[in-house]
Amino acid sequence: MSAPDLDEILAESPIHLHGKRLGAELAGAFSVADHRFFRAIAQWDALRPVLAGEVGDARATTDALIGLGEGCPNGGLLLAFGAHCFAVASCISKFADPDGARSILPQLQAGSVIGALAATEAGAGSDVMALKTSYAETETGYVLQGEKTYISNGAQADIFLVFATKDVRLHSRGVACFLVERSAPGVTVAEMALQGLRGASLATLSLSEVRIDRVSLIGRPSGGAQVFKHAMIQERILLSAFLVGSMKRALTRSSDYAKTRQQFGVPIASNQYVSGRIVEMLLRYATAKFMLDYATTRLALGIASEADASLVKLCASEGALECQLNAFRVLGGKGLEAEGGNCDELIDILGSLIYSGTSDLQKVILAASLGLPT
Ligand SMILES: Cc1cc2nc3c(=O)[nH]c(=O)nc-3n(C[C@H](O)[C@H](O)[C@H](O)COP(=O)(O)OP(=O)(O)OC[C@H]3O[C@@H](n4cnc5c(N)ncnc54)[C@H](O)[C@@H]3O)c2cc1C
Repeated sequence: MSAPDLDEILAESPIHLHGKRLGAELAGAFSVADHRFFRAIAQWDALRPVLAGEVGDARATTDALIGLGEGCPNGGLLLAFGAHCFAVASCISKFADPDGARSILPQLQAGSVIGALAATEAGAGSDVMALKTSYAETETGYVLQGEKTYISNGAQADIFLVFATKDVRLHSRGVACFLVERSAPGVTVAEMALQGLRGASLATLSLSEVRIDRVSLIGRPSGGAQVFKHAMIQERILLSAFLVGSMKRALTRSSDYAKTRQQFGVPIASNQYVSGRIVEMLLRYATAKFMLDYATTRLALGIASEADASLVKLCASEGALECQLNAFRVLGGKGLEAEGGNCDELIDILGSLIYSGTSDLQKVILAASLGLPT
């Protein structure tokens, strides 16, 4: 097999092109990822596997998600979609009781029910298993008490996957995961004011003596850490596809602009500082894309590790930041303009350095996988 040339790296398959068109349409039509947004996105067959919490064909899924990411400049809409499918639907598909919580899957797939994952708390961010939201068994099920924060999709979600502990001293060994309906008595949601991530809603979730039945347990009692790990592997890999799409958009746009924008009587691309920046973007994009292909293939085979997911997430989020920053420099003053600038995209990318675990946390995971003391 011959190595792919540049045309192949930059090529857009029909599925990628469709995703790109759909991404642009969604960005134009929806200011927030509400039920109408999820129903519209659920119309595209290529996304059916991920909406059902599966990976499907690795190549088709990667192409569809990169295409969406390239076409849709609103990072918040994509984050909302990712939280719904890659975190919530995938955990329900893998861990929920077939006679209980799993029955919600067709509604998640159709976009008529929106899901959110609620793990983070004010005192439990990177060390998320230090969470204090508690659960206790009752005769008919469980009772939950606590406060969650930074919940993507929080304002629109109909259901939450809530992580809670039976004893804080047990750390990850004490955590279980539960499906909690927004309509349950004792559930209160408050939207947080955010900068950037257009289309996403982040919210706090308060649980005051919320009673749920037995079939709402997702996975084993004390198996919450395993459920969370699955969600993070899935989310870190598949959300990275949107970031790869963002890199492609920044690269194409900078390259087109640098060829046409004239200064000192020549296109700015003939200045090697400028063309060098664009080549750096190509390098970041190609590296992340190859890594994504590798990780998505392993995900589809069911063998992706935490280290695979951390590698691709670190590469894609830090690479997307570098690409959007380089695009900003290439655009000059235009980069700041409300119409045609890329400040919104730049600020959206900042979120990717934090959500699904910070870049530092990805390095902690990778260091541990190398056997380094952490
Ligand atoms: C846009 C967005 C969407 C989110 N969506 C969700 C969601 O849907 N559900 C959910 O549950 N949570 C969500 N989160 C929360 C997110 O997972 C946390 O913000 C993240 O894990 C970091 O926690 P923190 O903000 O408390 O930062 P902290 O953990 O307080 O970290 C602060 C700084 O210290 C560093 N740090 C901490 N510990 C270490 C360490 N051991 N080694 C090296 N550096 C360290 C961090 O890297 C960071 O630089 C979201 C966050 C954002 C920004």
